[in-house]
Amino acid sequence: MVAADGDKLPPNLQTRHCRECGNDNMASAKRKLSGFNTESVFTCPDCAHEVSLASEGAGGVYLASAIIATTAIGLIMWVGKGFSKTELIVLVFLFAVFASPMLIDALKRRPYPVTGMREPSAEEKAAWPSGPSDPIQKGISWMDGFGFVKGFFGLFIFIALWFAFWAIVGLIKESFF
Ligand SMILES: [Zn+2]
Repeated sequence: MVAADGDKLPPNLQTRHCRECGNDNMASAKRKLSGFNTESVFTCPDCAHEVSLASEGAGGVYLASAIIATTAIGLIMWVGKGFSKTELIVLVFLFAVFASPMLIDALKRRPYPVTGMREPSAEEKAAWPSGPSDPIQKGISWMDGFGFVKGFFGLFIFIALWFAFWAIVGLIKESFF
């Protein structure tokens, strides 16, 4: 197998419901990078219906990032002088620009609910024996493991823990050094 770009990415092992014929075993063998996310082409074994869907775990993480980015920009604008009406509209617009790709992806996934996980084929096992070794591929597989909601809240929890960690480091430094 010649490695095209998509072949370097580990396949999404979810199985999905086919909107066209109701089969519950739509599977994906190919994945490609698309914008901030990855897209997997799911094919129905019964009616050969094909659909390209973005990864939902990553989608949740990116949506949380959009909220955090908009909040950060909002805080910077607000500090000292508050908001004018125009600035508020600009902020809402910015958020829409940041978040709409993820929301569109989520809407696209809706008619194809996940029905389960499949076992990797022998070929896939040979290509990714102990999971992908590349850190980016690892990240992609890791984010697949989350659903949309877990990915979304996961980022907030991660940031909260990060702040807590540095607060504790600061506290220790202050009390012992
Ligand atoms: Zn089908």
